[in-house]
Amino acid sequence: MYVCMAAATLTACGPKQEKEQVAEDFSYTVEQFADMEILRYKVHGFDQLQPKQKEMLYYLSQAALEGRDILFDQNGKHNLCIRRTMEAVYVNYAGDKTSADFQAFELYLKRVWVANGIHHHYSGDKFIPAFSQTFFAEAVKSIDPTLLPLSEGETVDALVEKLTPVIFDPSVMAKRVNQAAGEDLVATSAGNYYEGVTQAEAEAFYAAMKDTNDLTPVSYGLNSKLMKEDGVLVEKTYKVGGMYSAALERVVGWLEKAAAVAENDKQREVIEKLISYNRTGCLKEFDEFCILWVHDLESQIDFVNGFTETYGDPLGMKASWESLINFKDLEATKRTELISQNAQWFEDNSPVDDQFKKETVKGVSAKVITAAMLGGDCYPTTPIGINLPNSNWIRQQHGSKSVTIENLTEAYDKAAMGNGFSQEFMWSEEEMNRAKEYGSLTNNLHTDLHECLGHGSGKLLPGVDPDAMKEYGSAIEETRADLFGLYYIADPKIVELGILPNADAYKAEYYQFMMNGAMTQLMRIEPGKTIEEAHMRNRQLIANWVMEHGAAEKVVEFKERDGKTYVVVNDYEKLRDLFGELLREIQRIKSTGDYEAGKQIVEQYAVQVNQDLHKEVLERYAKLNLAPYKGFVNPVYIPEYDAEGNIINVTLDYTEGYAEQHLRYSKDYSVLPTYN
Ligand code: ZN
Repeated sequence: MYVCMAAATLTACGPKQEKEQVAEDFSYTVEQFADMEILRYKVHGFDQLQPKQKEMLYYLSQAALEGRDILFDQNGKHNLCIRRTMEAVYVNYAGDKTSADFQAFELYLKRVWVANGIHHHYSGDKFIPAFSQTFFAEAVKSIDPTLLPLSEGETVDALVEKLTPVIFDPSVMAKRVNQAAGEDLVATSAGNYYEGVTQAEAEAFYAAMKDTNDLTPVSYGLNSKLMKEDGVLVEKTYKVGGMYSAALERVVGWLEKAAAVAENDKQREVIEKLISYNRTGCLKEFDEFCILWVHDLESQIDFVNGFTETYGDPLGMKASWESLINFKDLEATKRTELISQNAQWFEDNSPVDDQFKKETVKGVSAKVITAAMLGGDCYPTTPIGINLPNSNWIRQQHGSKSVTIENLTEAYDKAAMGNGFSQEFMWSEEEMNRAKEYGSLTNNLHTDLHECLGHGSGKLLPGVDPDAMKEYGSAIEETRADLFGLYYIADPKIVELGILPNADAYKAEYYQFMMNGAMTQLMRIEPGKTIEEAHMRNRQLIANWVMEHGAAEKVVEFKERDGKTYVVVNDYEKLRDLFGELLREIQRIKSTGDYEAGKQIVEQYAVQVNQDLHKEVLERYAKLNLAPYKGFVNPVYIPEYDAEGNIINVTLDYTEGYAEQHLRYSKDYSVLPTYN
């Protein structure tokens, strides 16, 4: 599970303690278009690593890039065809590149790169281009046909005809992940995890596979596409020799090189198991890999590489391909270790009903990491925290690894300094000053608590299906983790442990969370739309619930000044009590598998948007001329070889541009067929 960046860093307040002086000429911002700002992150501490560690990071970074095409295909079956067609035009078009149509064409391609497909990376809605269908047809027909991704026997006319409705018609493949209650979520979602299959068929297929007595169930359906062949349901497994083979072979090739320079035997075993799993596609092996991985705590280098998160599947079973290569930030990790060491105390003292608490919280490990390469579903938009593995029984028996990615939050903070956001939306100087002083620290701490403790806390009652919350599962789980963090960030224990400097600092995060959840996150929602994304649902759920339940005592309220609405927190201590009360209820829902209550609370508080407030937020936000979403370009890894071809050093280059990077990736890391 991950904490997406949109969660926390919006107010991005003030500078924080520098670990390392960043060169004056390092530019965190790359470019801005549509609703995106593209940033650059700095891989702090890379130069101080051992040569073998740098070599290993180089191999892993390549493995991270090889899965890019897989994600495009998973996000929609025409995505690779659209990207390849557009890139061919973008590079080879001989017409007027300053025309409005071509500019709109370029903008659309940049958005396709951000989204790894034609649906918005965050909302999942299809975005519609501003260039004309005529321009599209003429531009495609104007270039050398051998440069186009034509299927066998396909004419250029047929290609244009095939892609035109997919790109232009708002009703065709309208949503990547449809979560509208009452509809066939599988048949109406444009993601490529199912084909020719209804929701009822998919659910029956996996229900028949599940053995409810199995205490260590695999993650059914995780690494496959479900489709029909001759009327019969079949799973196409993602593996070497199966679906996505060409890309996975390359991934395996780089992993083999990485295994050869592993830091220690344990880490080598982890990588070798991952290689084997990529070859067999066997989900038991995936679990074995996860267990080995979660126990490797000594290595400085770590990675995610493979089919991991299930947000892209409306049924929450099938995983998108992602990769995040990183190494431990030894200094900052001291903070999260303190939290981890006290995990049992936090579990024992939480406001949750005792029967839902874990007797022993196992292996809650936590560290602060430096991202070294982002790939697949972590690129170019990326989480700021990760807690894996996702399998419930592995988490219970073996624990989980939790990370905060601090060089990415640093980039957000640096890029957002002085952009006017706080001045526009915060109630008074008091909130702004607190944000400046403690905003970054408490924000990172909330992420730590969410990841290290929140997801790992609590337990299901015996016999409760881990998937009992179905389509509400992700929102309920994120709500639970966020509340655990919110409750404890204000606990005297945090000050006692020396993690926060005083008993007032937490208020910075409380205010920012309430402002974001109740109001400012609406800037990401298009007019008339409801909230679909799990993390956004979780934040609005919490904010609206506590505002309603604290209304009589005016714990938190909306106030108006000069025609503008503000969130005002009047009583921080009572606000904490309300967070605790809601945590207790959410944990009960999860632990008992109370689907109806879960559905009710999400539908009541998390989904619908206050239309007037939404309109106001969009208008105020528009005046600031800021991009609500951020993405990244990666550094370029440059190996240096000796005469025998051994890598002797690796250096990083940070100068690559956004389009430049994507075009290079499409050339060097693109081996899948256009249709898979
Ligand atoms: Zn989470």
